[in-house]
Amino acid sequence: MTSFSYAANPVRVVFGSLDCLSTEADRLGLGRVLLIGRPRHADRAAKALGARLAARFGEPAMHTPVDVTERALKLVAEHDVDGVVAIGGGSATGLAKAIALHTDLPQLIVPTTYAGSELTSVLGQTADGRKTTQKTPKVRPETVLYDVGLTLDLPVSVSAASGLNALAHAVEARYAPDANPMTDLLAAEAIKLLTSALPRIAANPSDVDARADALRGAWLAGSCLDAVQMGLHHRLCHHLGGKFGLPHAETHAVLLPHVMAHQGLDDADDVFELAASLPVPHSLAELGLTEADIEGEPEEELLRQALHGTRPA
Ligand code: NAD
Repeated sequence: MTSFSYAANPVRVVFGSLDCLSTEADRLGLGRVLLIGRPRHADRAAKALGARLAARFGEPAMHTPVDVTERALKLVAEHDVDGVVAIGGGSATGLAKAIALHTDLPQLIVPTTYAGSELTSVLGQTADGRKTTQKTPKVRPETVLYDVGLTLDLPVSVSAASGLNALAHAVEARYAPDANPMTDLLAAEAIKLLTSALPRIAANPSDVDARADALRGAWLAGSCLDAVQMGLHHRLCHHLGGKFGLPHAETHAVLLPHVMAHQGLDDADDVFELAASLPVPHSLAELGLTEADIEGEPEEELLRQALHGTRPA
């Protein structure tokens, strides 16, 4: 028998509605909350939090810049905050996690994209144009509340890129050196849900069943990402993203089929076709890279195919 180890991570996951927010905040004993999120969704969360709301921060940013975190930490200190609620995509979640890294405050996350960061103990931060990533249980959120209604207005292009980012989390669990029977199960179900949901969302963004499938897929995929070591795909995405300032989800979307083919996964072509059918960038060139940029980079041949968006060999 192959040996393996698996530890279930202690995150409370609730699929329900934003109406459960105050109950979940009470469960964590939160009395003075910092609410992170853009007004579109945060206004509703503020209402639900009522008197528990101590302060708001409305400008989370991609890749968690440390100067943004410092501004939010000031609010935490000034308002004697005892917990953080973040509503939004991976950028809002990243800021909550960065605050937890410094303060150990409990986090309640309400995701509105498929980024999956809410399930992981991984935090990527940027300072002086450099992104560094660390893995520590200190940043893993305590509670995640999913409300499919919040995802219905996520634009199709953002949904598709974010959904392929989620798919990448599950795919990577398939070839991770520490994959195990539990991550295999999670990954298989996540891949099934996401590959079925994304074309349906592209055809009809307000298809609630498709949105629910994508959100469940994102949850399972995020759980995979936290349970295994990150491999080639994430290494390449983080390297290119940091070096050339590329957008996070779109970089995943472009590279995924090429990394899958490189790893010998037999459904690489299916994922290439899926990505080709969705309104996402299909090449690194569309993200602004040139031949000169990839010259001498690790996995140069793989990157050349991704540069031109050609079908992976
Ligand atoms: P994002 O949070 O920046 O959101 C993308 C855009 O969509 C933003 O403009 C946002 O305001 C908007 N948006 C979000 N939800 C919406 C909704 N329901 N309706 C309309 N607009 C909406 O992007 P993202 O792809 O969710 O997250 C990317 C960030 O997450 C990056 O910083 C990345 O490093 C991080 N991330 C971290 C992990 C991890 O495990 N640490 C995993 C995945 C992503």
